[in-house]
Amino acid sequence: MKIIIIGAVAAGTSAAAKARRNNDSAKIVIYEKDGDISYSGCGLPYYIGGEIEDIEQLTPRDAQFFKKKYNIDIFTRHEVLKIDTKSKKVIVKNLSTDEIFEDNYDKLVIATGASPFIPDIKGVDKEHVFFLRNVKHAQNIKNFIDSKHPKHAVIAGTGFIGFEMLENLILRNIDVTIIEKQEKITPNLDEDMALFLENMLLKKNIKIIKGSFISQIQDDKVVLDNGKEIKSDMVIMATGVRPNVKLAKEAGVELGVTGAIKVNSKMQTNIADVYACGDCIETFSLITSKPVYRPLGSTANKTGRIAGDVLTGGNLEYRGNLGTGIFKLFDIAVSNTGLTEKEAAELGYDVVVCHNIKPDKPTYFNGKEMIIKAVADKNTKKILGVQIIGFDGVDKRTDVFATLITYGAKVDELFHLDLAYAPPFSTTKDPVHYTGMILE
Ligand code: FAD
Repeated sequence: MKIIIIGAVAAGTSAAAKARRNNDSAKIVIYEKDGDISYSGCGLPYYIGGEIEDIEQLTPRDAQFFKKKYNIDIFTRHEVLKIDTKSKKVIVKNLSTDEIFEDNYDKLVIATGASPFIPDIKGVDKEHVFFLRNVKHAQNIKNFIDSKHPKHAVIAGTGFIGFEMLENLILRNIDVTIIEKQEKITPNLDEDMALFLENMLLKKNIKIIKGSFISQIQDDKVVLDNGKEIKSDMVIMATGVRPNVKLAKEAGVELGVTGAIKVNSKMQTNIADVYACGDCIETFSLITSKPVYRPLGSTANKTGRIAGDVLTGGNLEYRGNLGTGIFKLFDIAVSNTGLTEKEAAELGYDVVVCHNIKPDKPTYFNGKEMIIKAVADKNTKKILGVQIIGFDGVDKRTDVFATLITYGAKVDELFHLDLAYAPPFSTTKDPVHYTGMILE
């Protein structure tokens, strides 16, 4: 059996490694148009900020590693130009030599990921304007800071990448203003939680402008739609991503309602022997079963592994996601899992919410308050979603809630959870217990 995989970051390499574990003898080939493979995109902001000194720490595996450990052939700087699903072949261009050749597959995996969304703004192509998606982008940003020493930066977008970049540019002594087109920051938070976070950030003197978008980028400033000008000799566009679906679409692979590739729970597309995984696919909500587009590394690894398993005869199936996410901004941690209050209400749930403010540990162990907003369904009493803003222990509570929602826990079950307690870690009744007690 010959397996061809297109794309060698999170999903493509996960698919390849799992396929090899299941099948010793298959020939596995990955084509990747970039020079870097299997890197941690999630670590890139911290490389720019200097916390991660060497880019090699984020790119620990090269093509030789995959050859030696898994007998997988990865061809970098090779772009797949076309997929012919009838004759089961791909047309590939070697970007180093310009040679074009064909290769045949028995099973094909499309793991082409996503690309930054480039808004139509005058000046967006200037050399001090950056997008952050891959290793090359991160190196370009770092080189620019090291050589040009920018003093003022504007970041467009208040999603996790925007805020992670905000922290890391401030660590490089750059004065940063972050701009959000919507009237509230952070897409995954309800309005009240977003306002709470905004107030925390304002106390840290973070400059935030909401309800405005950039209409023009000049060499030393950006101009907003309301005419306001902001000094800026560097701009980061963190305005979201779009799935890379052109190649798949041209081959007749069906797209879903979100515009990403439609797959079933086994990562199979509408075309026999063609699978897709990672940021190029549409997944579904574990709560509503409705299609969602959640381009996250956690999901890309999982869906890649499922594709690799199924195409080699395994029976793994995707069970849906909660869109669980977390990011940090200096000492603040912000997370979400499941539905927001707004989403739940729009879906027709009879919503009940609570805001629970509790310390993560006793005060004698330097406990600090976190705020938990929990959303539940009045009729079934099931927890639907949680948002948390705090300092320490936000990740732990988020994961407990994600697990509870996954297994359909009801609010009155939270109090009975036997959670780990000792003063250096939590309080006798944990913030999770209290959330259930308030909601009951
Ligand atoms: P990609 O990483 O996009 O890789 C797809 C690859 O396919 C690309 O290298 C591309 O060159 C290649 N390709 C495309 N078309 C072709 C073609 N025709 N021929 C050959 N090759 C092709 N996720 C989290 O869960 N948590 C985080 O904290 C987090 N932080 C992030 C921070 C940053 C700054 C960024 C950029 C992303 C972050 N993510 C995070 C998201 C995570 O990195 C992505 O979800 C993950 O990389 C997706 O992996 P993928 O393999 O599906 O796609």
